Amino acid sequence: MPALFLYCRTGFEAECAAEIQSLAQHHDVSGYCQTTSQSGYVLFHATDLASLQFLHANLPFAEVIFARQWFIALAQLKDMPVTDRITPLLAALHALPSAANEVFFETPDTNEGKELAALCRSIATPFTKQATANGILKATQLSPYRLHLCFLPGAQAFAGYALSNNSAPWPMGIPRLKASRDAPSRSALKLEEAWLRFLTPQEQALSLQPGMRAVDLGAAPGGWTAELVKRHIHVIAVDNGNIDPKLLESGLVEHVRGDGFRYRPKKTVDWMVCDIVEQPIRIAELAALWLSGDLCRFCIFNLKLPMKKRYHEVQRCLDRVRESLVQSGLECQIRAKQLYHDREEVTVYVSTRSHG
Ligand code: SAM
Repeated sequence: MPALFLYCRTGFEAECAAEIQSLAQHHDVSGYCQTTSQSGYVLFHATDLASLQFLHANLPFAEVIFARQWFIALAQLKDMPVTDRITPLLAALHALPSAANEVFFETPDTNEGKELAALCRSIATPFTKQATANGILKATQLSPYRLHLCFLPGAQAFAGYALSNNSAPWPMGIPRLKASRDAPSRSALKLEEAWLRFLTPQEQALSLQPGMRAVDLGAAPGGWTAELVKRHIHVIAVDNGNIDPKLLESGLVEHVRGDGFRYRPKKTVDWMVCDIVEQPIRIAELAALWLSGDLCRFCIFNLKLPMKKRYHEVQRCLDRVRESLVQSGLECQIRAKQLYHDREEVTVYVSTRSHG
């Protein structure tokens, strides 16, 4: 049964499958995907466990756009006895390469999955105790492995493991972020999650420094601007809509009522962020123009996806940005992810460095 189990946003199973199929091919791993519409996950089957282990170790998780989290599922359990789920779960983990040092208790991010949250909570302590006694869990040991148990309705579960340094550090790949009470919009969480996903703590310290300058295109009502202001960054907020007055009172925000596609800063700024709802290719071209024209050094933008060919549209947009930067002689780092706080969209981060 071994398979790569990938969690994705419900409704994006086809995109997640198309992507992992293509990435696996690039790594010379052949296989096929098993998807169920609206399930919130995809299974990638390869010819053997070694191929899956190779793919999981060599494909950087940061390069996977449509998966929030992944692990190698060693077994799929069906009809687990309600009175003792732990024995079959432990038996399923016998092929673990070596002891793991933590366990994630998970479910797909669906309404049915949410109903299993209580089961995850109740099984956590007894499972941890028995897995420790059994030797497959050693909390104090430095181990590259983490156990994953994904519970499904109907007494089903997938049991497996992931490499901690090549997977998301949160159960189901969902960071638990809380919107501050006075946040102008819930969109603020998207930018916060983007920074967490795309930048290491060291990179955050370097690229989000007090006194830096940013432009927020499509800023109203001000969720993203508020995130920048929280970090004491000066923001030019471009939008014909109104910006939260509290932000304007901060002294760090200048509101420009205008068209985000035409606005250009007088001097290079550190950040350009853009959350305008527009055709994704127009947003990609706008970002490419800012980055290749040295109008900003770092950029985060959202690509609002069409109903069809969403995977291909994302690739087309990323290629457009990449080509434009290569033509301008700029080295760049491009990361894209469908964040937990994203809806029918993906978030892209680009940073540039000139050659030499
Ligand atoms: N990021 C914002 C936040 O956190 O509050 C939410 C942005 S909202 C999804 C999109 C915004 O883009 C709207 O306020 C809209 O007025 C603005 N918008 C749409 N077209 C625009 C354009 N051409 N130039 C500037 N803003 C635009």
